[in-house]
Amino acid sequence: MRILLTNDDGVDSEGLLALRTSLSPTHETVVVAPDRNWSVSGHTRTMDRPLRIAEVKLRDGSPAYSTDGTPSDCVALAALGFLDYLPDLVISGINQGNNLGDDITYSGTVAAAMEGVISGIPSIAVSMNTTPEWPVELAAAFVARLVEQVNERGLAKDILLNVNVPNLPHDQIRGVQITRLGKRVYNDELIVRTDPRGRKYYWMGGNAVTDHLEEGTDVAAVEENYISITPIHMDLTNHRLLDTLRSWDLRF
Ligand code: MN
Repeated sequence: MRILLTNDDGVDSEGLLALRTSLSPTHETVVVAPDRNWSVSGHTRTMDRPLRIAEVKLRDGSPAYSTDGTPSDCVALAALGFLDYLPDLVISGINQGNNLGDDITYSGTVAAAMEGVISGIPSIAVSMNTTPEWPVELAAAFVARLVEQVNERGLAKDILLNVNVPNLPHDQIRGVQITRLGKRVYNDELIVRTDPRGRKYYWMGGNAVTDHLEEGTDVAAVEENYISITPIHMDLTNHRLLDTLRSWDLRF
């Protein structure tokens, strides 16, 4: 397959290199990735300035393109003609940190995969926590297995697979679960302080997320040491509410 690799942690991330290393023996891979970290940037596209693309080398010496745009820009650039072909698959990652449940609405990693789907290319987003150590080759090896299946069985071009790999040694991962999106509680709080010039500043932060460990969700699967794969489509319509809303008295 011809696979476009990108990420939101920047072209120098080990996660991107691990994907390249594990996929390039059997597939034609091309890296188009941002030149800096765009984590938690969501589905940002650059419309107010031109974009530049530089030829760079990954740490193993393999060629890559780096752009001063966002992860979604990278995919759009490639799909709109920077590459002279439309890739068969977009893979975004391997992200430094899980993207579970509502995280996917913040994630630049998942947004790049969404941009793939919008461009008519089936896509995969891959994420894994980084601590205490980051056995990212393990996640990359699983992606190679998944791509083998995509190649064999096909994946509709309006689908992205959101993959989260638990940060564990190989023998502690219990297998793969196909999941739906779960719920996370962010426990954010607003801290207001005053700077030395007497002006207020605001810091949004707070405690670590707490997860709803509901069976069948991505959040629960990773918590229970399974690799989670969630099929995602871009239709956010709440179909159950269509008829209810139609019954409202909305004469105008
Ligand atoms: Mn990231």
